[in-house]
Amino acid sequence: MDAWRRSWIMIVLAVCLGGLAIRASTESSGTLVELPDGSHPTLTSKAAAIGTIPQVRVLLGSVARPVWKLRIDGPYRLLAPDGWRVVGQGERLGETELSATNDGLRIGELKLRERRLKIEVATSGSLWVNQRRYRGQLSLVRQEDGRVSAINSLEVEPYVASVVNGEMPGEFPPAARQALAIAARTYVLYQMKARGAARDFDVYDNTRSQVYQGMEMIDAQGRRLAVETADSRRVAEDTRGIVLLYQGRLFCPYYGAVCGGHTGRGSDQFRDAAPPLVGVPCDGCRDAPRYRWQVETASEPIAARLSAYLERTGRAVGVIQSIEATNPADGRLGEVTVTGERGSAIVSTLTLREEGVGPRELPSPYFALSWRPPQVAIQGRGWGHCVGLCQWGARGKAIAGSDCAAILMHYYPGATLSVAQ
Ligand SMILES: [Zn+2]
Repeated sequence: MDAWRRSWIMIVLAVCLGGLAIRASTESSGTLVELPDGSHPTLTSKAAAIGTIPQVRVLLGSVARPVWKLRIDGPYRLLAPDGWRVVGQGERLGETELSATNDGLRIGELKLRERRLKIEVATSGSLWVNQRRYRGQLSLVRQEDGRVSAINSLEVEPYVASVVNGEMPGEFPPAARQALAIAARTYVLYQMKARGAARDFDVYDNTRSQVYQGMEMIDAQGRRLAVETADSRRVAEDTRGIVLLYQGRLFCPYYGAVCGGHTGRGSDQFRDAAPPLVGVPCDGCRDAPRYRWQVETASEPIAARLSAYLERTGRAVGVIQSIEATNPADGRLGEVTVTGERGSAIVSTLTLREEGVGPRELPSPYFALSWRPPQVAIQGRGWGHCVGLCQWGARGKAIAGSDCAAILMHYYPGATLSVAQ
């Protein structure tokens, strides 16, 4: 066990035993117990036991699709869900199209009556789906509309090793990547607990959850590109099992690319925002793209869309004459005053972004606005929802000497660290 990991387990024990919010850079005065190499501490009554960690189920491609391309570089079996009966097998599968039939699934020329199928590969990492190589196994679900959902099941730690590279550049400092790994692991375990039982998968493979692209991929030029790397595997291993808790429970540790100077108050944007997502100052992301940004666009379409939205929600103001927006510096969403010929209404900058301007037009919901028809100038900060850990901020803090615990405690005040098992 390396010194870094040993010190981590000691810190985690201190947290569990003392219930303290800690900074790893500070010597703890708690009772520390060093564990034998290779062992994992168990959680005390102060922390919720997470139980045996099942595999994470990732919905590939975000939605069900009519056709998937499948390749398996080794022995495999096709299993039907009624008792996992074997309905097909082979030593390898060259690139084959997978789609729905009227009443089941088709893999190449093989037609099966089953609407659900599990593909079990003998060697993890031999599975290719749409030019991406995955660890673990694959499940297929024929949807009512004839499209097929592809769900990759794998262990949480290799999933984290892929997400670290999917979400954060490899050249960011180790402490920033370790902090992200802990947030990503907590995120997926939270989703598995909170939502998994209700549907066939736990998380999406894109920014709707976290970016997961498997082990490697083939790009449009036919080049094989590593997604998981030795470095991302090391980052996952160095933080193996470590998660964030709030009052002994997993919470959803939202994180974003760039906050622009202050992270967002989570409760403004997410119903499941836990108290650590209160919003904190961030001085680390000044070098980031979109730390500050400006958008100039036509005012008329915004006024028309917003007017329709207000009408739909029972707050009609008639033809809009002006829109004013504030941009508080403390992480709250700004207030937008919409004045029309028949009155005025107040909405948030989040509503203005989503209902008036369009979420793709503005990098974040934190902005001020100058209404100068026929144009409107929008000056904003940050990229994404800006809630929770700021990835560029974590980079800045790591460069300034913070370790991953200090970074996490900054962005999630009141949270503690523990080991999931
Ligand atoms: Zn930031």
